[in-house]
Amino acid sequence: MSTFEEIRYTRQANFDIQKKDLVDFQFDMPKKVYGNCNLSIFVDDYCNADCMFCVAQLRYENRSMIYKKPKIEDDAEYFRRLEEVLARVAPLNVSVSLTGGEPTLSPRFAGVVRLLDKYNIRKKTITTNGSALLKEAEGKRVIDHLIDAKFDHLNISKAHYDEARNLVLMPYPCGERGCTNEDLAQIIPYALSRNLRPRLSCLLLKDGIHDLPGMVEYIEFYRKLGIDNIIFRELMDYDVNTMINREKVEYCQRNKVKLNDVWQDVDKDSRFEPEKNILGYYYYVEIYQYKGVAVCSESADLRVQKEEKDAHGDIVYEMVFHPNGNLNGSWVDSEDILLKYNP
Ligand code: SF4
Repeated sequence: MSTFEEIRYTRQANFDIQKKDLVDFQFDMPKKVYGNCNLSIFVDDYCNADCMFCVAQLRYENRSMIYKKPKIEDDAEYFRRLEEVLARVAPLNVSVSLTGGEPTLSPRFAGVVRLLDKYNIRKKTITTNGSALLKEAEGKRVIDHLIDAKFDHLNISKAHYDEARNLVLMPYPCGERGCTNEDLAQIIPYALSRNLRPRLSCLLLKDGIHDLPGMVEYIEFYRKLGIDNIIFRELMDYDVNTMINREKVEYCQRNKVKLNDVWQDVDKDSRFEPEKNILGYYYYVEIYQYKGVAVCSESADLRVQKEEKDAHGDIVYEMVFHPNGNLNGSWVDSEDILLKYNP
């Protein structure tokens, strides 16, 4: 039996939130908060790319909703509200992630980053397609905003090491080229030398990287550029019946690569050294070392997420600050509101 096999095939049957650290906390109502809770700041729904596999869209469409988020229009009021929420949850010592859409393209990006720098946050991460990292926002390159605000992790989505294939999987309708390998050759060493750890995120797709040999080529390609941290993700499972975008359903079904199959090949490959596995409330991660690169692999199931949350309505697993000013225990801005914005 492989190191991780026992949990790999049983997954959430082993997850018991009641056995985790839970902290009592007063939001608009009393709740228990998962000790390792993360606060995601969903900066904006706009993205310059248009990926068929977009998880941000999937989370809405999985609830039969259109992905279009209302927002606080006035900038000053937005920042006042964000600061109010940050101050309120500060006692929870949460880690913070910036996400979207493409967070670096929001006119509010630099202001949000500066605001976070005022708080002593234990870990700060951004997830981006990387296309704007070397561009300027408010007189400074985006990457330098992150470095100056002492961000810890920089997650860059890149579906393929081959530029042409990456552009098919992550198309940019306005003709941009996204974050090119040439850009990454600059970004990776620059970030590493300034304590901002870059990580490449590759979604496994039948049309893209879909098996262990492909993963090894991807790792080797970016290892040469200095990367030491890569995550391969399985397309999230979701409720097919509630998805409204049939084109996306068909794309995702056709492109699904199962990590359980890939992991069986990893078990037989002595270049991959098992490091640890992590069982979350709707996701499961295996981490390996490959020639000095930490290789994470993650699968997640939006149906399990809903079941788990429905079964424990008094528990907050993660928090999301939405553009409409609400703090929610959900990625959907109308669900599970913890601190409601009252203009
Ligand atoms: S780059 Fe990310 S946020 Fe933008 S469309 Fe693709 S998956 Fe969605």
